[in-house]
Amino acid sequence: MNLWFSELHTKGSGLVLKVKKYLYSGNSPYQKIDIFESEDYGKVLVLDGLVMTTERDEFIYHEMLTHPAMRIHPNPQSILIIGGGDGGTAREALRYSEVKRAVLVEIDEMVVELSKKYLGEISSAYNDPRLEVVIRDGIEFVKNCNERFDVIFLDTSDPVGPAEALYRKDFYQSLKKCLKKNGIISAQTESPWVQKETVKKLYREIKDIFNDKIIYLAHIPTYPGGIWSFMLLGEKIELYDIKRPIPGKTKYYNDEIHRSMTALPEYFKHEIAE
Ligand code: SAM
Repeated sequence: MNLWFSELHTKGSGLVLKVKKYLYSGNSPYQKIDIFESEDYGKVLVLDGLVMTTERDEFIYHEMLTHPAMRIHPNPQSILIIGGGDGGTAREALRYSEVKRAVLVEIDEMVVELSKKYLGEISSAYNDPRLEVVIRDGIEFVKNCNERFDVIFLDTSDPVGPAEALYRKDFYQSLKKCLKKNGIISAQTESPWVQKETVKKLYREIKDIFNDKIIYLAHIPTYPGGIWSFMLLGEKIELYDIKRPIPGKTKYYNDEIHRSMTALPEYFKHEIAE
C-alpha cells in the first residue's frame, strides 16, 4: 500500500509526495514536526503540515536567501539568522570567511536537534565554532537586542503559529535596532503565486521602514506555486556592486541569476507597484 504526504496550498491545489518511510513524527511545545524519506525529494522536514525543506531542493532556497546579501555587503563579519532551525541558511552564510560571528535564534530546540539527527547535509554548520545557537523567540530576541549585525536573515516558517508575529510591521521596526548602519536584511517573503496577498501586505507594511527594498524571485519545486519571493531591505543597497566571489560551488545561484533575479513577471510586479 502506497503512503502519500499531501499539503494543500489552496482549497483546490497543493503538493503530493510519495513517502518511503517516516523517520519522526511528534509535537514540540510549538508545532507538529514530521520528517520522512520521500521517493523523489530525499528527506523532508514538515512543520505543522507544511513542507519546510527537502534534501533535494533546499539548496535553491538557502543559496538564494544568503548569497546575494553576503556578496554585496562591504564586510559581513557578523550575521543574525532568525528561524532557520534546519541549519541550511547558516551553512550557506558561513561559507564566507569574512563571517567572524553568526547567531541563530530558533524558537524550537527540537527542530535543531532533529535536523542534526536526520538532515546531516543541511545542518552541517552546527559544527562551525563561529555559530552561536540561541533557543528563543525571535520576537523577544530582537526586542532586547543589545548587539548590531551586518546581515540579518529572516528564515522563518509561514505566517502561522510561532512565526505569525514575524510578519508584522513592529517586528521589522524592531529589527532596525539589531542592524548596523550599512546593514542588510535578507528575508524570505512567501509565494508570489499562492500567497500574493501576504507578500503585498508585508511589502506595504515595511515599505516606509526601509529606504531600499529589493524583491527577487526563485523557483522552488516543493514550495507553494513552485515560485518564491525574497526581499533585501536596508538604508542603501547596491545590488550590482558585488564585493566578492561565490565561495566554492553553488547549484542554483550564480552571477547571471544575481543580475536577473529582480525581473518580476507581469502578474506580480504591478501588484507590488500599487
Ligand atoms: N529553512 C527552511 C527552508 O528551507 O525553507 C524553512 C525555514 S525554517 C525550518 C523555519 C524555522 O522558523 C522553524 O524551525 C521554526 O521553528 C522557526 N520559527 C518559527 N517562529 C519563530 C520565532 N518566533 N522565533 C524563532 N524561530 C521561529
